Amino acid sequence: MNAPTAVNHLVPEFHQREVPEALIEALKARFGQQLSTAMAVRSQHGRDESSFDVPPPAAVVFAQSTQDVADAVKLASQFEVPVIPFGVGSSLEGHLLAVQGGISIDVSRMNRVVSVNADDLTVTVQPGVTRKQLNDEIKSTGLFFPIDPGADASIGGMTATRASGTNAVRYGTMRENVLALEVVTASGEVIRTGTRAKKSSAGYDLTRLLVGSEGTLGVITEITLRIYPLPEAVSAAICSFPSIEDAVRTTIQIIQLGVPIARVELIDQHTVRMVNAHSKLGLREEPMLLMEFHGSPAGVKEQAETVQDIASEHGGKAFEWASTPEERTRLWTARHNAYFAAVQSRPGCRVISTDTCVPISRLADCLLDSVKEADASGIPYFLVGHVGDGNFHFGYLLDPNAPEERVKAEQLNHALVARALALEGTCTGEHGVGLHKMGFLVDEAGVGAVDMMRTIKRALDPKNIMNPGKIFSL
Ligand SMILES: Cc1cc2nc3c(=O)[nH]c(=O)nc-3n(C[C@H](O)[C@H](O)[C@H](O)COP(=O)(O)OP(=O)(O)OC[C@H]3O[C@@H](n4cnc5c(N)ncnc54)[C@H](O)[C@@H]3O)c2cc1C
Repeated sequence: MNAPTAVNHLVPEFHQREVPEALIEALKARFGQQLSTAMAVRSQHGRDESSFDVPPPAAVVFAQSTQDVADAVKLASQFEVPVIPFGVGSSLEGHLLAVQGGISIDVSRMNRVVSVNADDLTVTVQPGVTRKQLNDEIKSTGLFFPIDPGADASIGGMTATRASGTNAVRYGTMRENVLALEVVTASGEVIRTGTRAKKSSAGYDLTRLLVGSEGTLGVITEITLRIYPLPEAVSAAICSFPSIEDAVRTTIQIIQLGVPIARVELIDQHTVRMVNAHSKLGLREEPMLLMEFHGSPAGVKEQAETVQDIASEHGGKAFEWASTPEERTRLWTARHNAYFAAVQSRPGCRVISTDTCVPISRLADCLLDSVKEADASGIPYFLVGHVGDGNFHFGYLLDPNAPEERVKAEQLNHALVARALALEGTCTGEHGVGLHKMGFLVDEAGVGAVDMMRTIKRALDPKNIMNPGKIFSL
């Protein structure tokens, strides 16, 4: 074993396992050009959007089939070397870092839509299909897949992180939308979980176990998803508010009244300023809700009128509509680019992103005190939220040469998570635990529940080769 690698001062130290030359030779013999040991490729696969630096994996296998994945895992298992599945690398919590060394299995070339069953509203895809690619490919059927993390993530990665996005308030998260999986287990066997049927009572729900397993239990090689008819009418609007509190109280009331809103997103005044600069928009630099309504023309009108009334009770002004597809795309692209706009506002910065989620009635309690703390810290930040779900993200923009900023940002994150847990919420609504939130998982789930997760992990991956050192330590 090599020397321990200190990831940062807040997460444990890890021991890099040796990757024997014999394994690399065996992989070369099996995969030829599909294997890379070039440093540039390894580095690209050894980091994600998180701000940690650890040594990269020893090699990258570019899998093109389930058989490729199974063969790579079998070889890794034989040498007891870690395997880290890789989608497009947009995760935020250190999920992909080779903290115990090992090899990366990149599934981005497994990017075929296998079948579309329009009559049943299901689609089956390989894991490297990205969410935008999927929607482009099924557009002609009049159907769409609603889950939309800000990045154009892979469906495999989204399944593995139990992702969601702006549409989850209406359509749910990956948890509600994955029906069945094909998975390569830690021993290299290929198994299937679930079926295309809408429901099933057949045994343990292995699909749900694997959704959100972050590559720690197996490599997902095929996913069957629910898809939805494109709504007959869609209307989007933005509304500015005098304060974040007014925007949040509006959201709480919308949800509590049961308005079936498709999207309701908060962006604070700092983020509006950054988005204006990045996307050349002229939005009022005040806290803002971005909303979308789906349904029949009459239903959309009714929803919009109800929301407008609620918003005006809370000082909402300048309700602006975007009814053409082009206007809507411009608006939602700007929202999805908020992260990149923020990064550009402080060139060279690293980002720590928070991800707490609380029951809707607790949203104001959780968010407003956290805004006060972030303001008092002096660290530049952006605030965006899938507030209809009670989920929001502070992104602290850190100067990499000012370690004290990182310490402060971690303190803010700790205070925020403690507050969310006290309000019966979670440390992560959608990004997952990865490396960064391992300590928080114990606070949230308790030692007993984490021990049960460890028992499952040991049973399914006795050599601890599947993305080891993530979610919890063994
Ligand atoms: C700008 C920006 C905005 C974002 N917005 C959101 C958001 O709104 N909602 C949200 O949920 N997330 C968001 N994210 C986070 C990220 O996009 C999601 O976590 C996404 O699901 C990761 O997918 P990926 O393909 O990039 O996976 P990767 O980053 O490649 O991998 C993520 C994890 O999944 C595992 N994995 C990947 N593929 C497989 C597979 N086939 N089998 C088993 N395990 C696998 C990896 O080992 C790793 O642990 C955002 C990220 C960025 C950069």
